[in-house]
Amino acid sequence: MLKKIILGAVVLTVATNVLDAQRRRGRREFDLKNMYSVDSTVRDGIKLVFVSNDSTFDSKEKERMIETFYKVYPEQCKIYNPKSREKVTIFIDTAYEGVAATGGGLMRVNPKWMKKNPEDIDVVTHETMHVVQEYPRYEPIWVTEGIADYVRATLGVNNVAAKWTLPEYKSSQSYTNSYRITARFFIWLENKVKKGIVKNLDNAMRTNTYTDGFWKNETGKTVDELWAQYGQNPSL
Ligand SMILES: [Zn+2]
Repeated sequence: MLKKIILGAVVLTVATNVLDAQRRRGRREFDLKNMYSVDSTVRDGIKLVFVSNDSTFDSKEKERMIETFYKVYPEQCKIYNPKSREKVTIFIDTAYEGVAATGGGLMRVNPKWMKKNPEDIDVVTHETMHVVQEYPRYEPIWVTEGIADYVRATLGVNNVAAKWTLPEYKSSQSYTNSYRITARFFIWLENKVKKGIVKNLDNAMRTNTYTDGFWKNETGKTVDELWAQYGQNPSL
């Protein structure tokens, strides 16, 4: 009995520490006094908060990111999830080491990446799709990231100038490679197999009803069979 109580106390302490860590992180993300600039805009009922802790972040790049957001986010909501959030925060974060990441309505972007790749403005398009997705589970990752890049390919505003293209099919690829490789496969599916399949896939993910059986229900074929067919004639 005592053992159980001690164990219970340990579990509780660990759980509390995890929660505290999350709260601390949450606080730091929104600790506005460490921010160089905070700016919010509202257009057609959608609020964008733009926060930066980088004093050297280019104001023109910021404007382009805001314009891109207001161009693509309402379109994404309309097509994929009309109930998507009405408030999104873009946080230019010098502490973030990747390119960008989004959780809930908060998008963190690495300013170093944007400085080196100023035309890569559709990072916003990919990340806002993660806001729209709001899936209860991120898995399978290749579906989630494949859809985000499919949306960048179809709704992006500056992919050509950014030299962002979908790689040609190669037999060494797999649909599980994720990102652009999967995005190209999704475009092929839309064009050659079933119009609207990506929208249905996105919906299955959001409603947590996606299973391996999705593909057979939609097309009569498994995803491996579809991928094999794609490999035989991958033209779009
Ligand atoms: Zn992503």
